[in-house]
Parts: sequence; C-alpha cells; structure tokens
Amino acid sequence: RKPVAALGIDLGTSGVRAALLSEDGSLVDIAAYPFPDAASARLPSTWWCGVKSSLAELASRNSFASLKGVAVDGTSGTVLAVDSGGMPVGEALMYNDPCPDRTIVERIGAQAPSDSPARGETSALARAIHLSRRSGVRTIMHQADWILMNLGLATPTSDENNALKTGYDLAAECWPNWLEACGMDIALLPVVKRAGSPLSRITAGGLALGLPRECRYFAGTTDGCASFLATGASNVGDGVTALGSTLVIKLACALPINAANNGIYSHRVLDFWLAGGASNSGGAVIRTFFDGEQLKAMTSKLQPDAPTGLAYYPLLGPGERFPINDPAYPPRLEPRPSDDLTFFQAILEGITAIEKSGYDRLAELGGPRVLSIRTVGGGAANPAWARMRENALGVPFLASRSAEASVGAASLVLAGKARWP
Ligand code: ADP
Repeated sequence: RKPVAALGIDLGTSGVRAALLSEDGSLVDIAAYPFPDAASARLPSTWWCGVKSSLAELASRNSFASLKGVAVDGTSGTVLAVDSGGMPVGEALMYNDPCPDRTIVERIGAQAPSDSPARGETSALARAIHLSRRSGVRTIMHQADWILMNLGLATPTSDENNALKTGYDLAAECWPNWLEACGMDIALLPVVKRAGSPLSRITAGGLALGLPRECRYFAGTTDGCASFLATGASNVGDGVTALGSTLVIKLACALPINAANNGIYSHRVLDFWLAGGASNSGGAVIRTFFDGEQLKAMTSKLQPDAPTGLAYYPLLGPGERFPINDPAYPPRLEPRPSDDLTFFQAILEGITAIEKSGYDRLAELGGPRVLSIRTVGGGAANPAWARMRENALGVPFLASRSAEASVGAASLVLAGKARWP
C-alpha cells in the first residue's frame, strides 16, 4: 500500500464516509458509517460517532504517520448552534428543514440582494438566524465546521462553499452588513476561508484522535462540491451530470454565473467557479412507470442510434426551474406508444434533451461551452443512455474517478496543498 497523504471526511445524508488518498491522488482506503435511522441522522452526536468510528476503522488498517492534511465536507445548509465549550445548543436544523419562523424568511426576502443564495423558503441563513436566538449560543456553525472543530481546530472556521447559502459575500470576502438587518449577529458566525486552504497544524485534540503532528486542517466544502471534485473534473468546461431522482448539471467555469430565477449560483473552488442547475426532470419520472427489474431488462434492448423522436419533457407534475423557469411548465409524456421499451427510450431521450439545453443555458448565462462530461447517479449505469447522450451532446464522455464525496474532500486537501504551498 502507498503511504497516505490526505484524509477526506464526508458527512452525507445517509451516513459518514472517510477516504484516504496517497500523494498521487489514488484511493488507498475508505470506511463508512451508515446512520442507523432518519432520527439519529439529525443528531450531532451521531455525526461525531460516525467520524470517530470511520477514523478508527481506517487507523486499524493504515498508518496515519505520513498524513499531510484533513478536510471535511457536509450537507449544504445544515446548521447548528454551539456554546462556548463547543457543545450543541439544542437540535441542529438540517439542509432541508424549513425555518420554523417564517418572519425571518420574509425579512431576508426584503434585505438580501436579489441574486443571493441565502434567499428562499429553504434558506440556510434563516435557519442560522433562528438558531442564533437560543440562549447560551457562542457560534453558529455548519455541519462540516463543527466536525473540524471536534477534530481539534481551535478557531471556529468555515469555508466559502458552506458559507455561501448563509449569506457570505464571495466578492468582498466577508459576512456582509445586510445580515445584521436580517437579524443575524455577525459576531456569532465563524471565520470563513477559501475551500481547500490550509489552516492550522494539528492540535492536541487531533493528536488524541491519531492524526500526526505534521498534518494540517484544511478548509472543507459542501457535499455537492465534494462530489464534483470526486469525479476528477477540475478544468473550466468540465461538466458533471447527475442522473439521480432529479437531473442536476454542474459546470466548472472561469467566472461565476448567478441566475436566481433558474436557481443557479456559483461556488468558488480552487481556481474555478462551480455553477450548477437542477431540473425537476430526472429518474424519479422513470420510477413512476418502471421498477428496477424492468429497467434492468429493458436497458440492454434500447436502440440509442434509432431515436423515437417523441420529444417528451418528462416531469412528475407541472413546473420547471432549470433550464426553463416556468412554475406552470407542463409535463409532456404523450402519445404513449404501445410498447414499454419505446416509451422508456422516449423518456430517456426527453431527459437527454433537457441535459443538452441545461448546458446550453449555462453557456448563455456566461459560462463556457461544456467540453467533457462525467456522469454520476443511478442513470450512469445505463450504457445505452450514455450513447444517446453522447450522440446528442457531442462532447467526450469521461469515466468518473469516484462517486464518493469523501474522495472529493481528500482531493481538495491535495489540490489546496499545491495551490497554497
Ligand atoms: P438519488 O438522486 O435518489 O440518490 P440515484 O442516484 O440512486 O438517486 O438514482 C436513482 C435513479 O436512477 C432512479 O430514479 C432511476 O430512475 C434511475 N435509474 C436506475 N437504473 C436506471 C437505468 N438502467 N436507466 C435509467 N435510469 C435508471
């Protein structure tokens, strides 16, 4: 086995995973801790238990002596209130929890710049403001920040990717003053660093967990950005398409793209900007018609070079955000052919057309032309669909290095070390 250089820890929706990479970026080992149930997935104590368990598992099989850095990614928008001893004050609010106090959401609507990712019903800033009103709160932290602190980092520190939806200003590189007008005491927010930038050396807290003295903490990222990095995409024009329940496309850009109407905002990662958009179309539509067995059986019979030409727009119900923004946009799944195979192929063609117009839309908004595509998610396992997409998009389809966000977090350490020697 190669000596390990970077440790990445991923706090995902279903569990914790930790990956060790060697200096050349190859995966040495990975450990996983699935959350036992949905209720415990909300508990910071479970998150920490998962981290300790994953580290112990890796330590049982590897020497950490050559480790140069550790970074953490967490679910984007999950926040918790912490007291002066670093202990959580009450429950955390998860990435998909609505803010219990609607008036905060409205206040942000009135105060935040029109293209701020802190706006909206699922605003992370609204959750942060709500939590900041609990008594005894010293700091508001994102999930990844809190894990980094538990690993021993002395100063509460976040990264630009986790801080974006909490209202951080990427241009001015500070927490903007309008946050105060929304009711957020900026003094309670963590210091923010560029994703992947080196922080302090390992402290006594980290040594006690088995991390070596030469190792550093690195500013981490969100699970979404980590998943992008995991694929190996890293140059302007590199696209990653997620064919999961929804269709999500992400593109590395030279400049940020922000289009609030399309739900698009951009993260700064290393030397590029990561812009992404999510369609309401995707695999969930396929799932309403076919189960896993049927999909498997039909996949090998698809005819990627003989399109049906049915021009569907597959949606579960009316409404689309990206590439088109129209809350009333109608699904188009008719006429339904008599055989299921043709119907399945037409749905895949429909999603493919949306993927193509998604990349076109990002280019219209100022992004680069997509130059290559890596694919992740359940639909990535369908080679005939990949062929259909290659025909439609006309760019090289590249193999994804890894589908593990923890690998992305670890590669952020390696890239950050090179970027900020
Ligand atoms: P999630 O976004 O929920 O994490 P996954 O990445 O696990 O989803 O992908 C699940 C989706 O993959 C399902 O909605 C299903 O429609 C789609 N899928 C699974 N197998 C195939 C296949 N052979 N062809 C096309 N789509 C598929």
